[in-house]
Amino acid sequence: LAQLFRPLDMLGWVYREIKQGLIDMEQMFTLLDTEAEIEDAPGAPPLAVSGGHVRFEHVDFAYEARRPILHDLDLDVAPGATLAIVGHSGAGKSTISRILYRFYDIAGGRVTIDGQDISQVTQASLRAAIGIVPQDTVLFNDSIAYNIGYGRAGASQAEIEVAARQAQIHDFVMSLPDGYETTVGERGLKLSGGEKQRVAIARTILKDPAILILDEATSALDSATEADIQSALKRVAEHRTTLVIAHRLSTVVDADEIIVMDQGRIVERGTHALLLARDGLYAAMWLRQQAEAEAEAMEAAE
Ligand code: ATP
Repeated sequence: LAQLFRPLDMLGWVYREIKQGLIDMEQMFTLLDTEAEIEDAPGAPPLAVSGGHVRFEHVDFAYEARRPILHDLDLDVAPGATLAIVGHSGAGKSTISRILYRFYDIAGGRVTIDGQDISQVTQASLRAAIGIVPQDTVLFNDSIAYNIGYGRAGASQAEIEVAARQAQIHDFVMSLPDGYETTVGERGLKLSGGEKQRVAIARTILKDPAILILDEATSALDSATEADIQSALKRVAEHRTTLVIAHRLSTVVDADEIIVMDQGRIVERGTHALLLARDGLYAAMWLRQQAEAEAEAMEAAE
């Protein structure tokens, strides 16, 4: 009988996770893939967030015991600072964000927020403190108002609109015949990648987390949309500790620190200027992306 009820339990659990601020359906599947279920430590207190100081100390991590992914990783992101994470595909960038959100427990070392070990506080409080703007947001088949509003339970229409304005999606919504009541998602109006991302940004603004994880879209957006999204992201990152998983180096120039990942290790770290002067992996990535951007511009001009 217990076997029979397990899937139901699981559904309830997933549902709660979504309600508690998990903002992307894709991440729901990541959760379902998680083999060992993460549990709160007995009597765990909630996380008490002061400024959002994020630290990884000597973190080792493996999805499967036989294949280590992160090795002795150290990070220190001061309250309100921005850390950009760059590196080739598979280097371990997204893994860092999954660990901070505690989708997985680590094999060695410690991850703390404002001095508290994240494995010793409740998951609900941890996830309430972190907002994620994922690469590709999957929307619910419901109104735009609902899709933005679930960033915070009980948000009023006025609050939803303020967030939408800050995320630069309000004017677009108002241009639709049904405005905020427009049904979106698979069975409704299909939004473009940039529009979906702005819905996710509005949602995160409503959630108002101390810590933010931005997973930059890899797909190219047209340059006007790109500029709108960049300015919306800048605004949401202000006064919050931010980790950006960056695919385009042009967006990391202003970060307080950039780390360059390679095969689960940090191989270079520093500011943009410092890393360029170092003439290593980062400088090579930068030059290649500059050349690609120039080639694209030439092509567009032809
Ligand atoms: P990308 O830029 O392509 O998104 P990334 O740098 O974010 O890549 P990660 O997703 O962190 O890379 O993956 C790091 C390594 O961990 C990869 O080798 C990947 O195959 C492995 N990995 C990722 N997720 C899992 C998982 N759920 N189970 C097992 N291995 C995984």
